[in-house]
Amino acid sequence: MCLSVSPADSTRVVVPATSFLDEDLSCPSPVLVSVMAASSWLLPVALVVVGVSLSTSATAQPRDPVYWEIHDTSRAQPPVVDPGPAPAEPRPAPSDAVVLFDGGDLDAWEHPDGAPAAWTLRDNHVEVDTGRGDIQTKEAFGDMQLHLEWMTNPSVTGRGQGRGNSGVFLMGTYEVQVLDSYDNPTYPDGQAAALYGQYPPLVNATRPPGEWQTYDITFRRPRFDQNGSVATPARVTVYHNGVLVQDRVEFTGPTAHHDRPPYEAHAARLPLRLQDHGDGAVRYRNIWVRELE
Ligand code: MG
Repeated sequence: MCLSVSPADSTRVVVPATSFLDEDLSCPSPVLVSVMAASSWLLPVALVVVGVSLSTSATAQPRDPVYWEIHDTSRAQPPVVDPGPAPAEPRPAPSDAVVLFDGGDLDAWEHPDGAPAAWTLRDNHVEVDTGRGDIQTKEAFGDMQLHLEWMTNPSVTGRGQGRGNSGVFLMGTYEVQVLDSYDNPTYPDGQAAALYGQYPPLVNATRPPGEWQTYDITFRRPRFDQNGSVATPARVTVYHNGVLVQDRVEFTGPTAHHDRPPYEAHAARLPLRLQDHGDGAVRYRNIWVRELE
């Protein structure tokens, strides 16, 4: 369902939902809804403006999560973009990068409880070993440029959130979703390259299962004031297979399933975490970080 929020009184106006596969769903802007509610004599003028707005932007939807229920199935599915073929070989890391995984070992990683990372090494990649838990870096990071490559199981099983689900948790807290989103619709704020539960990607640039995919991420950590309140939200830019899918987007707070919890003050550096969602056989390779502070 689509929620419109009046800036003046925060009154929410519910716009009826349509099929979550309907990419033509449009919501009137919250400002226009507010104007229409405030004064009936403005209604004819507002309707004209609404008409102009919809005719010039028939598929536009607000992106701010405040307008949407979490995992809202009436949000439009992002347009599909073919990103071109996968690189034959992993992209070499820059000379100043901290290499977290080059295919050789998992020495830079551990289970969140401090036990050894228990995922399976194969050739030049590591594979999620279902039920063995997440893995996270031993080193902590704040602002950073992150590159990693991932692949979902070429033997497709499951659907929606149950097909190739994993995730890149920046600072262990803010998830950029990993999912087989090739011909696999799900709620848009939970598909590949979504900021989970908050922002769908601008487009769906997912390659077919069994092909390597890249994420190139620039992340600016949140800043907190002396009272522990968030002064500057976390911000992220994401390229999926070289295609811009998140453009300097601010997290509303930590990501969660069916929840958008508020920020809570945390350390300036925290480990990077990869998710064992239980779907198995999601693979990672060529993971490196350039620290930006
Ligand atoms: Mg996930």
